[in-house]
Amino acid sequence: MNLFKFSKNEIVELLSSKSSAILDLMISANSKRDNTIITFSKNIFIPLTEVCRNTCGYCTFRKDPKELGKQILMFPEDIISNLKKSEKYGCKEALFTFGERSDQIKDIRNILEKIGFENMSEYLYYICEETLKSTDLLPHSNPGIVSKKELKMLKEVNASMGLMLENSSPRLMQTEAHINSPGKNPWLRTQTIENAGRLKIPFTTGLLIGIGETLEERAQSLLELRRIQNKYGHIQEIIIQNFRSKPGIPMESHPEPSLMAVLKTVAVAKLIFPDVSIQVPPNLNKETSQMFLLAGADDWGGISPLSKDYVNPEAPWPEINELKRLTYDTGFSMRERLPVYPEYINSKFLSTNILEKIEKIKLKYKMNI
Ligand code: SF4
Repeated sequence: MNLFKFSKNEIVELLSSKSSAILDLMISANSKRDNTIITFSKNIFIPLTEVCRNTCGYCTFRKDPKELGKQILMFPEDIISNLKKSEKYGCKEALFTFGERSDQIKDIRNILEKIGFENMSEYLYYICEETLKSTDLLPHSNPGIVSKKELKMLKEVNASMGLMLENSSPRLMQTEAHINSPGKNPWLRTQTIENAGRLKIPFTTGLLIGIGETLEERAQSLLELRRIQNKYGHIQEIIIQNFRSKPGIPMESHPEPSLMAVLKTVAVAKLIFPDVSIQVPPNLNKETSQMFLLAGADDWGGISPLSKDYVNPEAPWPEINELKRLTYDTGFSMRERLPVYPEYINSKFLSTNILEKIEKIKLKYKMNI
């Protein structure tokens, strides 16, 4: 078990490294890996709905119900048909990401009621269950803030789940980033991540860098995740995602974090979390993604051979072969993984349903996990 190794001041100092100290930081983070493998998961991205109760200043995903019309909710037939298509490409992960607590919006509630569901969590459970019944894909859901009861139900049909902490500072609730987003209250997010820990759900979380946080707040957020991981040990992956400005968003003129700022955060994250995979989304950093590997990143995340990134539609995923080339050129090798990391594939963390599906997938694809 890794205890707190760094104080907040020490982390801030590392995040403020200058010139050759940045290289030293990267070398020391890189030395924390126990192999030269960079992992990825072949997935399909299913946005159940783009309706969301929040309005984050950097979001391009969320849409108003009126704008969406009949496309307000993805229906089971379409979802299963897309999932079946993805199986032909060898996908093993069904990624369900969608607007948070959209059932607080009347139009979604009405449509859910019409098809026989009380809320989005019930609908998600049904979709995950159908996924397991009709395909050889493993669900990974990002349902936003949900209760412990909902997490417990969803655990039965998910190989892993996720929720970005983004930042642990309540101050950001008063800024352009989160002023209209009740679900971005860090207390609520921490509660959800901790409840997942209590329920032993393999979990992916992370930070959003460059949304107006100070270095102290960035350091505190990493320490908060470290505290949770020391207590529950369920965090399998930490995403370091950099803010990208996009035309038309409220934060369009907000500066993006510099390459060095993100590199230092990746390296510091690896130093604090030698026991957790660190991911930097390659589609947001095409030109610079190799640098993140040198700073300790060891996972490319979910890569889809067929679906676009609905959250960042302007940034398509690189082809898997292109990613392989980038990985080899940096001196690493690439290996496919499942949406749940090997150390969590056991009955302590997964339901029998999921464990059986994993065995089937391993046999079908001759995967040596
Ligand atoms: S970033 Fe996520 S939570 Fe925020 S408005 Fe967009 S979909 Fe909703």
